[in-house]
Formats: sequence, C-alpha cells, structure tokens
Amino acid sequence: MGLKIVPIFIPHYGCPHACVFCNQTRITGQCSIPDPAAVNDIIEEYLQTIPVSRERQVEVAFYGGSFTALEPELQEAYLRVVQPWLRKGAVDGIRISTRPDAISSGILDLLANYGVRVIELGVQSLDVEVLRQSGRGYTPREVWNAVRLIQDRNYCLGIQLMLGLPGDTGEKDLATARQVVEMRPAIARLYPALVIKGTRLAQMYETGAYRPLGLEEAVNISADMFMMLENAGIKVIRMGLQPTHELMGGDSLLAGPFHPAYGELVESEVFWRQAQMAIMAYGCLPAESLCIFVNEKDVSKMTGLKGRNRQRLQEFLAGEVNIKGISSAGRNWVGIGRVKHREPQFILSREQFVNDLLKM
Ligand code: SF4
Repeated sequence: MGLKIVPIFIPHYGCPHACVFCNQTRITGQCSIPDPAAVNDIIEEYLQTIPVSRERQVEVAFYGGSFTALEPELQEAYLRVVQPWLRKGAVDGIRISTRPDAISSGILDLLANYGVRVIELGVQSLDVEVLRQSGRGYTPREVWNAVRLIQDRNYCLGIQLMLGLPGDTGEKDLATARQVVEMRPAIARLYPALVIKGTRLAQMYETGAYRPLGLEEAVNISADMFMMLENAGIKVIRMGLQPTHELMGGDSLLAGPFHPAYGELVESEVFWRQAQMAIMAYGCLPAESLCIFVNEKDVSKMTGLKGRNRQRLQEFLAGEVNIKGISSAGRNWVGIGRVKHREPQFILSREQFVNDLLKM
C-alpha cells in the first residue's frame, strides 16, 4: 500500500502576498481556515477510510497556503494536534507546503520538533522576470537559500513548478527544470497556470495582457519537464490541479489548459514520443506486421486518452497498429516486435530514450 495523505487545506491564510494566479478560496472551494480543534476531527475521519495494514504509511499534509508564514503560535497549534496521532503510530509524519522566502533556520527547527518530514516549496519558476511579473515577491537566490537550509537538515524536499505564467516561455520552463535537477529534490509537482476568476491574472487575461497556454502546448512543455525530472530520479507526484468541484462545475475557471486527467495526457505524450523513437530504431515494418509492446499496466498510457496515440501511430505508420500489454516487472519501456511474436524483439527503456533525446 502506498503513502496515504490526510489533506488539511489552509487557504491563503497567513500569506501577505498576492500572486497573480492565486485565489485560494476559489481553487479549494473553501473560504475559512480550519480551527486547530477541527483538524483533529478531519484526521480521525480520514483515518477511518484507510485500511489498517503493516505497510500503511500516513502523512498529515497542511496544504493550500504558506504554512510557515502563519503566526508561529498558529503553526504550533496545528502541529500539536497531530502529535497524539504520531505517538500512537496512526500517522507517520507531517508534510507542509510553503513559500521559499518563508523558510529560516528557526522555522525549520520548530518544524523538526513536531515531526514534519516533508517540505514542499511553491517555487513556480526560477526565472527572475517570470517571478517578478507573477508577483511572487522573491528571486531565484532566495529559492536556492531555502533549498540549502531544508536539505542541510535532511528534510525530504518537494518543489512545485508552474508553467505558462506571465513572461514565461517553453525555454524558460526547461531552464527552470534544469536548475531543479541541480537542486536534487525528492519530489516535484507540475501545474500549468490557469486563469481563475477574481485573480490579477484574470484581469490581465481580460485586457489581453496575458495569454494562457493552450492544452496541447502545456502538455508538450510538461512532457519535456517531466522526462527531465524523472530521469534525474525526481519523482513527479502530480501534474495538473485536482479536478475539484469548483474547477469542474463551478464558474471559477476563466481560461487555461485545465484537464481532469492532465497527468495522464502528459504521460501519454511521453509514450507517443518514445514509441516513435523505438519504431525508428527497430526499423520500420509494414504497420500490419508490427506490434508495440508495453507493460500491461501502461497500455492505457500507450494507447492515449480516447485512443489519441493509437490514431497518431496509425498515421505515422500508415496502417492499423497493434498495441499489446504483457506482464513484466519494469514499467515505462516500449518494445517493438512482430505481431506473430509473444515478446518484443527490441526494447527502448525510458532511461535510454531520455538519454538519447538529451544527446540530440
Ligand atoms: S504565496 Fe501562495 S497563498 Fe500566497 S498569494 Fe501566492 S500562491 Fe497564494
């Protein structure tokens, strides 16, 4: 059983900034912060939904705002609520999300005292101009300082990035991803910027001063970043915002590349690129005698949402395409063989694929 997260949302509270894209109330559909006493009930209720087992790992996560920008007393009040659960062994750790400029040695000492083990930094970009135009209020230098402080104390570091912000380009996103690789966080999240009602970005969009990325454009850039990060051993744990009720059915979303299965779209894009390279490396065969093999758990990513990759492969090979899932220990490889074969005759691993791409 993987890691289970008990999410506690603390929207916008404690944050004196006004990033152009942010209206936490609308994104989370919640407008008041939970009382520390109520956090206990949230944890209790959530734990009841997670089957007990030896492998169960549970973390309480304070998300949504900038946790370490809260008054220290309030931070401690929240963290204290989790302590009995940690002592009982029902919860294994705490994670928080915060801003890079709300990290200091004193804050990190406080978090360590209460069992925080993962710190996710909302970095968004490492381009000075993008940060400035997005109203983030810090520079890349402060991000590097926060990263060093966090890693010196052996916290597990997460980095959240946003692509398509004002002043951003695909090249800048890749340059940011390259720097993140140098930072060596354990985990990362990728979000395309969305235009949410009530934000400064919405005003910029309405006056024509900002153009959001199209869905295909965002997926392409995310795929490049995803490959770069994962190839460096950084686990990308989420791509795209959660499809909340507000985003799906409400009127909050004005524009931007939102898709409820955004991460799946990105991973399918990577499989499509990898399959093309594998086919070319194997040597083209007539489509009807060629078979694309993948791990049986990767068939939907290889086929693509609504069969998009199958269609692209059919156009690429000018004929019907066979995609076969087989049981195998490894994931993310693409194999090529003949339809009559049970196994691929040639395999292109994800690592090999990305390394070959980087050499081009
Ligand atoms: S720092 Fe975070 S919570 Fe504060 S305005 Fe920016 S995105 Fe919103």
